[in-house]
Amino acid sequence: MSANRRSVLKGLVACACCAAAGASFAEGAGHGGGAHWSYDGAPGKWGDLQSDFRMCKLGTEQTPIDLDAGIKGEPGVVLHDYKPMPLRIVNNGHTIQVNADPGSACVVGGTRYELLQFHFHHPSEHLVGGKRFEMECHFVHKSPAGALAVTGVLIRPGSENGALKAVFDQMLEHAGAELRAGGSLDPAAVLPRSGGYFRYMGSLTTPPCSEGLTWTVFKEPIELSPAQIQRFAALFPNNARPVQRRNRRFLIDAS
Ligand SMILES: [Zn+2]
Repeated sequence: MSANRRSVLKGLVACACCAAAGASFAEGAGHGGGAHWSYDGAPGKWGDLQSDFRMCKLGTEQTPIDLDAGIKGEPGVVLHDYKPMPLRIVNNGHTIQVNADPGSACVVGGTRYELLQFHFHHPSEHLVGGKRFEMECHFVHKSPAGALAVTGVLIRPGSENGALKAVFDQMLEHAGAELRAGGSLDPAAVLPRSGGYFRYMGSLTTPPCSEGLTWTVFKEPIELSPAQIQRFAALFPNNARPVQRRNRRFLIDAS
């Protein structure tokens, strides 16, 4: 591939941002004309890059936040109805993302949100009581009406993660097109066993930082081996947006 072609391709996939809104993003289809953005000392400037990124600086319900001093509440069980799916991985220039085939979903407040994709951040974006974790995984879901619900899973160093082994064994070093890696993956096996979680209304953690997302972050972390974490960290030393102000939002602490 020529350098030219490569840079064009990189530009296209870089627009298919991590956790980006809309099904088209989830499939890695570019949205055309998007500005480049990065984590290198610049998250505070995302809002100035282009007009449709302005929520990154003007929004008052932004993600991530420090999950601390929540209000005890029971918004109900979050049902994750996930099914094994063919392994489809993409390095979009901002993260490693696994694209989901139709059929998996979560149910939040009686609404069913279809799983679009999941992806990773190093280190974690959310803090819990001021503590940062090694990594975080985000499962991005969309309702028929177009609303987004994201489930966050914190990751700490520990045992090798068998459910994610296939993803971390073939880390795609360069941004590019989706790889159909062969085999299948069961996203249900990635989730923690216990159901306690934090719930709040937030945003995408990448431009355009759109708000109105229902965030569920499980309290119990999952584990990756230090070697698995290092494989990701070598490609993405820091792809975590800094913590944002909570402002007047409710943070529900559900057991
Ligand atoms: Zn994310």
